[in-house]
Amino acid sequence: MCTSRRSFLKTSSALVAASVTAPRVLRGDPLPQPAIEPELSQFNYGDVELLEGPLRQQFDENHKFFMALDEDRLLKPFRQRAGLPAPGDEMGGWYSNSDDFNPHGNFNGFIPGHTFGQYLSGLARAYAVTGDKPTQAKVDRLVRAFAPTLSSKFYAGYHLPAYTYDKSCCGLIDAHEFAGCPTALRTLDAATDAVLPHLPEKALSRKEQYARPHANEADCWDETYTLPENFFLAWRRGAGQRYRDLAVRFLEDDFYFNPLAEGQNVLPGEHAYSHVNAFSSAMQAYLVLGSQKHLRAATNGFNFLRDTQSFATGGWGPDENFRKPGSGEIGQSLAKSHSSFETPCGAYGHFKITRYLLRVTRDSRYGDSMERVLYNTVLGSLPLKEDGSSFYYSDYNSAWGQKGYHRDKWPCCSGTLPQIAADYGISAYFRSRSGIYVNLYVPSRVKANLGGARVTLEQHTEYPHHMTTSIQVTADREARFALSLRIPAWTGPATRITVNGKRAAEDARPGTFARIERNWRSGDRIEVEFDRTMQLEAVDPEHPHLVAPVSGPLTLFTLAPAADKVRRDDLLKLAQVASGSTNWQVKTSSGSLSLRPFPSIHDEKYRLYLDTSI
Ligand SMILES: [Zn+2]
Repeated sequence: MCTSRRSFLKTSSALVAASVTAPRVLRGDPLPQPAIEPELSQFNYGDVELLEGPLRQQFDENHKFFMALDEDRLLKPFRQRAGLPAPGDEMGGWYSNSDDFNPHGNFNGFIPGHTFGQYLSGLARAYAVTGDKPTQAKVDRLVRAFAPTLSSKFYAGYHLPAYTYDKSCCGLIDAHEFAGCPTALRTLDAATDAVLPHLPEKALSRKEQYARPHANEADCWDETYTLPENFFLAWRRGAGQRYRDLAVRFLEDDFYFNPLAEGQNVLPGEHAYSHVNAFSSAMQAYLVLGSQKHLRAATNGFNFLRDTQSFATGGWGPDENFRKPGSGEIGQSLAKSHSSFETPCGAYGHFKITRYLLRVTRDSRYGDSMERVLYNTVLGSLPLKEDGSSFYYSDYNSAWGQKGYHRDKWPCCSGTLPQIAADYGISAYFRSRSGIYVNLYVPSRVKANLGGARVTLEQHTEYPHHMTTSIQVTADREARFALSLRIPAWTGPATRITVNGKRAAEDARPGTFARIERNWRSGDRIEVEFDRTMQLEAVDPEHPHLVAPVSGPLTLFTLAPAADKVRRDDLLKLAQVASGSTNWQVKTSSGSLSLRPFPSIHDEKYRLYLDTSI
């Protein structure tokens, strides 16, 4: 970014005034070009199909759930605030208008309508994945019914205007991009006009918000620093120059991106999910503006997240807060908290930033991090219930953890779950200039034009319960392209890749993508056998005796009852009860332990970290 903060502040109010009448690029005009085209690009949603398996099941479940959700109920808080007839029942919880809200105990009426945009986004992406016409029609109806409710009256006395607008913006640009909704960008303009009078002049940290006069403590929790990602995307998708200007205006450089770019770990004390979500704004600033500073900020920020804030599951942020490295607070949180990782939201933010960084760097470690979060957190989320009950926190409490639903109905995590489930396919494969990168080992089919041929790759696997995957090539003619397979950093030396039954010459070096370039023909089959290693990971350096067993990408949770302490040597002998099983077992000097991965736990009590101080 070349605009200095001083000159920028001088012009920002003029920008706001000008932006209302700024012409929007109309559909059909050429789209504006970002400064950077990353090495890897994303597939279209419709190019990747998940085949039967747990990821497909979670996607289908969410798609069906949101297709069945009543539209009048979804629109009710907007219609009420606009003074329009508002038929249908209240959704309740965070979603509905209510005077009950109190930041210290009652979240009914917290941020009415906040997840509307995310449900819209989830449906638009689900349409792009499936091509299901009723889904497209529902997106279209929701956008048309949302439009007449839009005025700045909606945000009068509203606690988190930027937060809710950001989700609406995402829903509308996704309705435009993925469901071809013809009125979505026009509706976005109206939504933007409505929120602008309620936004501050720049992104504000929580500290800055607390320092300003406020009527209610919740007014200090807004997340203006997450706005730029969707503003940049709106510009890229043809919504007009004012969205690029707004994106630049809300980049949180002062207290976040500048110090992160300089290598300062400013995460401690910050709200976890929204600050990971903000990394994606830094990545869009890099891609659109070519700002190296923002790439450094996102890269350093992610490294701090992974290296100083994470649990063995890949989750992070106990009680939604980042902790000071060296304080031992992450280990201490195990005894104090049952709110260890904000799972659907956190996983959604984690997937986004790892996709961006993987595409830019082609560094396989981002894929490793993504799969760890996938198999140990979000894939084990409980499904949404019709009354708005939502899985929110993963619980790593050291007494016992248990899965459950959040106290408040329709929270943030009900919005991100359908979005991440729709994103599984586009997270599994990426396009390079010379072929395809295989990032996730999930049952799936991907279609691409490669080397002049129409190619389909079909992957069959029960990974990570069976440590093998098989990918079959179908092509309408022989074609030369490169297949790059992620070889996780945790793999041992016996990992092998075979093509048509013969050992490939290419090196399966841990922590890289193994690249196989050759002339491929229909019927060619690639098989990978991953050499799985077992590790015991300490919760933090201050608690080296509190460890979680991690086998390959899979964290194993010990079911109750279990001895309070176990020996490290014993624990390292733990093994699946049978090949491919989700049940694991180990005999220790203090008894037998049963363990399972997170998605295979239902309502049993479990423990993630075990005490090995004997
Ligand atoms: Zn959430």
